[in-house]
Amino acid sequence: MDKTPIYDQSMTPQPTTTTGGGSVSQSKAMIYICGECHKENELKSTDVIRCNECGYRILYKKRTKRLIVYDAR
Ligand SMILES: [Zn+2]
Repeated sequence: MDKTPIYDQSMTPQPTTTTGGGSVSQSKAMIYICGECHKENELKSTDVIRCNECGYRILYKKRTKRLIVYDAR
């Protein structure tokens, strides 16, 4: 189980340019579980990490299983 807490990242600068040539999909929504009310929040990487229900700012990444979509056409 990936129980790494996600804190508000507005304090830590994040690199905007990712070098390496990997296929980084922007605006990819992920499911986060609130550490307070355990409600699922669908947040994009650009969104503020914050529960939409109670406003708690420590969310947990939900473990996604097989959500990789191959567009091989
Ligand atoms: Zn909450």
